[in-house]
Amino acid sequence: MSVQKKKIVIVGGGTAGWMSAAALKFHFKQLVDITLIESSDIGTVGVGEATIPTIRNFYLGLGLKDLDVMRATRATCKLGIQFNDWLRPGSSFIHPFGLYGQDSQGIEFHQFWLKLRKQGLADELGKYSLGVALAEKNKFTLPAKNPPSSLSVFDWALHFDAALFAQYMREFSMSLGVEHLDAKITKVNLRESDGYIANLSTESGATVAGDLFIDCSGFRGLLIEEALHTGYESWQKWLLCDSAQAVQSIAHGTPSPYTRVDAKTAGWQWKIPLQHRFGNGHVYASGFMGDEEAQQVLFNAIPEQTISDAKLIKFTAGRRKKAWNKNCIAIGLSAGFLEPLESTSIALVQTAIEKIRTLLTNFDFDDAVVNEFNETTALEYERVRDFLILHYKATQRSDSEFWRFCQHMEIPESLSHKLALFKSSGYVVNYRWEMFHLPSWLAIFSGFDYLPDNYDMRVDAFPEAQLAKSFAKMQASIQQAVADTPDHDAFIAEFCAAEKY
Ligand SMILES: Cc1cc2nc3c(=O)[nH]c(=O)nc-3n(C[C@H](O)[C@H](O)[C@H](O)COP(=O)(O)OP(=O)(O)OC[C@H]3O[C@@H](n4cnc5c(N)ncnc54)[C@H](O)[C@@H]3O)c2cc1C
Repeated sequence: MSVQKKKIVIVGGGTAGWMSAAALKFHFKQLVDITLIESSDIGTVGVGEATIPTIRNFYLGLGLKDLDVMRATRATCKLGIQFNDWLRPGSSFIHPFGLYGQDSQGIEFHQFWLKLRKQGLADELGKYSLGVALAEKNKFTLPAKNPPSSLSVFDWALHFDAALFAQYMREFSMSLGVEHLDAKITKVNLRESDGYIANLSTESGATVAGDLFIDCSGFRGLLIEEALHTGYESWQKWLLCDSAQAVQSIAHGTPSPYTRVDAKTAGWQWKIPLQHRFGNGHVYASGFMGDEEAQQVLFNAIPEQTISDAKLIKFTAGRRKKAWNKNCIAIGLSAGFLEPLESTSIALVQTAIEKIRTLLTNFDFDDAVVNEFNETTALEYERVRDFLILHYKATQRSDSEFWRFCQHMEIPESLSHKLALFKSSGYVVNYRWEMFHLPSWLAIFSGFDYLPDNYDMRVDAFPEAQLAKSFAKMQASIQQAVADTPDHDAFIAEFCAAEKY
């Protein structure tokens, strides 16, 4: 029996659109025809260059290889994020993609660390992470496939040129048979019977029909909002930043294997090193700083020569009330936006695609399927939201109105509970659909000196001197591993230097 082919129409040719096209065609193969429509007149948002390790699962799952993707996108390696001036001016810590120390007899490492730190017998948490140690020394190598112990465990992601990544995904998608249309959509036509999307009209007079429409049209949400009026839940009362200015500068010196984010008077500034240039941006709350001053702050903190004009982007933290509405699924900026402090947007694109692959076993659009998609998407966004709010709430900065406001603001109940639990027991609750797990929360808790006074009482059964000795041994073993690792730029030069730029 032949199965009737279905038609998926993707609107938008940014990172979200081309990732969706590549993954959905790869997954559904000849069961679906996919057309991607984008308008080169409108263009893409043009930022989004820092990722988290899940990006690698995405392209590895498509049969693509790390070093090929790096070469094609002029990428550098990312071991984590360095936070400067967040706790207070002058403070610094790294949130690594990896583990801390070694657990023992079912007790998590950080419980031992909490005790030894109190006794003055342990160093800061980052000293027990290979990821942090490598990042601090600008070193990089691929993680061991079979790490001898948790001490050798770290993960990595990429800093890449977003336009080149979208292009790479485009070439891959088109090689699988995805059809590409450069056209401006002027009208979204709904079916009278049920309000589902019937087809799209383009400026040139063409009509493109489909069974399922994926809205990757960016912040505007051409289908999900402008046509279907789905609604948006704003989280701006907790995440005050609503503006960003981005500018590129020349690459100078050795690229760091980490994203750098520096707290500023009314927000923060990123530096993302690529092989051929650096990406810089200032994310700020316009209620506390005007655009002109924000641009000055951005340029003042870039020692290298800039090579583009500053691009101003306005946004509202939050999420679309339903990511899936009728026969339309929003992915990327059209689904919601959380500031790029922990580089989560592209990862949320990926989880949305993953959910489609799991849930779309037919084209009936049953309520149960749609509701599952929407509920899990909402939870995912909320979990990331809470993680980001912690970065503001836990600050001890009181040198500007912005930071004083953040310290004293109300926070969501889900985060309050998590904080209270950690403060009283050192236990980090892992909610369903969390993108960030124990090591990440610990990185931020310890970086912000938000620590419990106590620790798991079972730790007292271990002789202190022996614990201190094993902590020193862990540090020594990490230092040895770092000494044996090549420099980050040497790794790039040897394995994945882009051919020319
Ligand atoms: C300041 C900032 C920094 C960021 N940094 C990071 C980061 O470090 N890491 C990360 O993971 N994410 C980051 N992001 C998010 C990331 O940039 C986006 O998630 C990602 O680029 C996906 O964007 P998109 O494809 O949804 O939208 P866009 O890139 O905006 O693409 C929209 C597409 O829709 C098309 N379109 C719109 N209207 C029409 C129409 N009428 N007809 C035809 N086509 C149309 C456009 O032509 C375009 O192709 C950042 C975002 C911002 C704002």
